[in-house]
Amino acid sequence: MLQTVDVGLVVLDRNHKIQLWNSFMENHSGIRTSQAREKNLFTQFPDLPEAWLKQKIESVFSLDSRAYSTWEQRPYLFKFKSYRPLTGKSEFMYQNITIIPLTGIDKSVSHACILVYDVTDIATSKLELEQANQELARLSRTDRLTGLNNRGHWEESLTQEFRRCKRTGEKSSLIMFDIDHFKKVNDTYGHQAGDEVIRVVAHSLLQMQRETDISGRYGGEEFGIILPDTGSEEAFVMAERLRQHIEASPVTYEDQMIAFTISLGIREFDSSLNDHTQWLEHSDQALYQSKRGGRNQTTIFGK
Ligand code: GH3
Ligand code: MG
Ligand code: MG
Repeated sequence: MLQTVDVGLVVLDRNHKIQLWNSFMENHSGIRTSQAREKNLFTQFPDLPEAWLKQKIESVFSLDSRAYSTWEQRPYLFKFKSYRPLTGKSEFMYQNITIIPLTGIDKSVSHACILVYDVTDIATSKLELEQANQELARLSRTDRLTGLNNRGHWEESLTQEFRRCKRTGEKSSLIMFDIDHFKKVNDTYGHQAGDEVIRVVAHSLLQMQRETDISGRYGGEEFGIILPDTGSEEAFVMAERLRQHIEASPVTYEDQMIAFTISLGIREFDSSLNDHTQWLEHSDQALYQSKRGGRNQTTIFGK
């Protein structure tokens, strides 16, 4: 039974010499029982986590109790190939490990038995499920057309930033911007061309923003950028760089050059703001001042 059971069995004496090596271990390691018997486990398998495993085994001997390790703590103890033709999703065998004390006739622990369970199927399904959930969560935060944060998630970030600034009194700025005369782009070149323009704007934005900035697609052709630790003058420099870059980079769509501009509004965080909505409104007011002023420009709220 020990030979045919679908679990690895390794019995060790106090000096880690192998006393039993069942056929599961033979099959997966390629090392025959006759080669393994009476060999030191750590000499036979130099890749084993020696210090960790010795400590586990020692506790089994000294406390006369079981020790465990799951694949989530340590994916495997023995590096065996995975022989799961159906799934084939992992190169190695995930293992759960149990080490049990074996007592002799004098009731003292004379040997330790390592049980190796193949849990590759369980582990790979769980990992796949986690990956799928992560991907789903990412999709629910992302705008389909641009890959930017979508409005819901971006506004959530803005709320958090508002709370952070209220609490710490740190600087932060909000830029809102909108493509100028975008209706004309759609009317002249078509909706598909309009979509391409929106994509290119988002791409420029991602390229020019700093790692800590959080940008999102707020509406059809309206975008927002949260700039933590940034005052309005510094935000103005960033806004102008983006505006000039976009003005100088017409989009090519089906052999047509589409030149366009954007208008921007900035509102620096201020402790007198009631909530993130008011912060947004002020940026929007600054943006519309840019529109009224003739478009293709940046306005700081209150200036
Ligand atoms: P303004 O300079 O005042 O901003 O003028 P505008 O023409 O850009 O005015 P407005 O913001 O009112 O128009 C936005 C247009 O953008 C209207 C809508 O049809 C179009 N639009 C909104 N979302 C999308 C989209 O996802 N793709 C395309 N192609 N067009 C969109
Ligand atoms: Mg517009
Ligand atoms: Mg608009």
